[in-house]
Amino acid sequence: MESPPLPGLYIVPTPIGNLGDITKRSAELLAAADVIAVEDSRVTAKLLHHLGLKKPMVPYHDHSKESDRERLIARMADEIVVLVSDAGTPLISDPGYKLVRDARAAGRYVTALPGPCAATTALSMAGLPTDRFLFAGFLPPKEKAKADTIAELGAVRASLVYYESGPRLGATLALLAKLLGTREAAVAREISKKFEECVTGTLADLAERYAVQEPKGEIVLMVGPPQEEDAPPDADSLDDALRAALASLPPAKAAKEVAKKLKLDRHDVYARAMALKDVNLGEKDQGNGENNPS
Ligand code: SAM
Repeated sequence: MESPPLPGLYIVPTPIGNLGDITKRSAELLAAADVIAVEDSRVTAKLLHHLGLKKPMVPYHDHSKESDRERLIARMADEIVVLVSDAGTPLISDPGYKLVRDARAAGRYVTALPGPCAATTALSMAGLPTDRFLFAGFLPPKEKAKADTIAELGAVRASLVYYESGPRLGATLALLAKLLGTREAAVAREISKKFEECVTGTLADLAERYAVQEPKGEIVLMVGPPQEEDAPPDADSLDDALRAALASLPPAKAAKEVAKKLKLDRHDVYARAMALKDVNLGEKDQGNGENNPS
């Protein structure tokens, strides 16, 4: 380290499997820390032992007491407070967001170091488009909420990245295949560990494979973007279809017909139909010669 770090909050990523993946800067920050805020002190103790360090640790979760957070933020005024999680980058499906938010609000120096993260490492190895991706974290455990969450992101033109567990993987893939249809996908497992693998195929292929074989270890599940023909129409083609339908049908019927044809939500299409109708009426009210019956 060139000069001693400023007092403040340092978000430090830790390895997701291979202890050799701790960066030089992260190790230096851990060595310089006055206190390390941790998820599980036993997990962080192993990493510190690997680095030949012994450091004071305090437990931290986003559901920690307000007073615990305030105490840490007070210490940041003149001490180096490091936040780590059990593995990977803190705040990415891990605690830390409220601590960063409140530390910033209190005017403390806050910075984050680059380092291991399962989501981005999995994407780098999957061979799916990465120009746009959406990190969607863990899906809800209950079937209905899970299906709603999948449907919500189904039309997004980006690769989707989920964290998943072995016992749930088969059922999740089957639901994704049912709701999203034919899409390329990948399962990255045990990244940076002895049994690392990345299996690719369509959602249906992977659903079939993991229905009979429950995988062990930690998993990132990725789904490629919808094919162009499956993608939702852009705003202009929706409006064109609605205008054509509105020429001969009342708004509710026009919306129903267009929603069915373009596979869109009927209520959203109806709202758009009403907006288009209002614009038309507005034009008529302004005495536009073409539409004015007089
Ligand atoms: N903050 C972490 C990160 O930056 O990746 C993620 C924490 S989240 C609580 C843990 C989940 O990340 C696991 O359930 C798994 O889905 C994924 N994960 C973590 N390590 C992994 C690994 N080595 N291989 C594959 N997935 C991993």
